[in-house]
Amino acid sequence: MSGERIGITEEVLEKINGYAVGKLKSEQVYCFSVLLCDNDVDRDYERFSDEALDRLAVMFRGRTGIFDHDHRSRGQTARIYDTEVRSYPDRKTMDGRDYRALMGFAYMVRTEDNKSLIAEIEGGIKKEVSVGCSVAKRICSVCGADGAKGGCNHIKGRSYGGKLCYVELDEPMDAYEWSFVAVPAQRAAGVTKVYGEREVNAEIEKLRAAQEQFCEELRGDIIRLGCFVKSYDIVEVEDMDIFALMELKKKLSRQLREEAASGKAAGVAAEYDSGEMEAFRV
Ligand SMILES: [Zn+2]
Repeated sequence: MSGERIGITEEVLEKINGYAVGKLKSEQVYCFSVLLCDNDVDRDYERFSDEALDRLAVMFRGRTGIFDHDHRSRGQTARIYDTEVRSYPDRKTMDGRDYRALMGFAYMVRTEDNKSLIAEIEGGIKKEVSVGCSVAKRICSVCGADGAKGGCNHIKGRSYGGKLCYVELDEPMDAYEWSFVAVPAQRAAGVTKVYGEREVNAEIEKLRAAQEQFCEELRGDIIRLGCFVKSYDIVEVEDMDIFALMELKKKLSRQLREEAASGKAAGVAAEYDSGEMEAFRV
C-alpha cells in the first residue's frame, strides 16, 4: 500500500503548492503515499480507534517526515500534502473490525541528492513509517479503564476470560512527525507512537510542586527579613511569582546589610551555603 506512485494532477499540485514556499511545477516534485497508521492491534498490543484515525488525518496534513535510517537518506525530508482514511471491507483487524488505514500523501522536491532515495521508494524498499503523536485516552479493552487516568491492573497481550487485553488509543491531541524507520512497530505500517502528554504532565506537576515549595520558603524568608529591615514597607507576598519573590528577598537582604553597616538595623541576617537563612535581632 505504501510507496505507491501518484500521478501529479493539477489538483495534487495545487494542494502541494498550498504548503510549498515557491510555486512548484509537476516535474519538480515526487509524490508517494505512506500508510501512517491503522486500526489494527499492533505488536505493542495497541490500536487506534476509528475516531482517532479520522482526527489524525487532519492533524497529519502539512507535517514533515524525515528519512534518517541510513547515511544516503539522512537529512532528506518529505511533507504530507493530503491524507485519507481508507476502508478495506474484505480485511478484518485482529479483533474482528473492518480494517481502516490512514494514508498520507507526501511530496519531495526533486534534487540531485535525493535521486537514489526516490529510486528506493519507487522500488518499494522504504515502506516502513513511524509516527509520533500524543493521545489523551488509553482505554483497556477488557474493562474500559483509561490508562491516562491511572488505568487498571490488566496487562496488555494477556487474555482475560478469553478476551485479549489491548489498549485503544483515542482522542489524539497532536501529531508531531513521521519518519521512515528500519524496525516497524505496527503490523502493517510500522507505527511507533509517542505518548508525550502523560509523562510530560507528570514532569510538569513535579516541577510545579518543587517550585511552589521554594516559593513558600522564600515567603517565609521575606517575612522574617521584613521584621528586621526598618525601611521595609510590608507588601503582599502571596501572589508574587518566584522571580518577584527572589528579587524582594535579595533587596531585603541588601537593605538589612546596609542598615546593619550604618548601625540602623534591628538585626542581622545570615545566609548559609545550604541556602537557608536566619535573621538575628541584635
Ligand atoms: Zn483493564
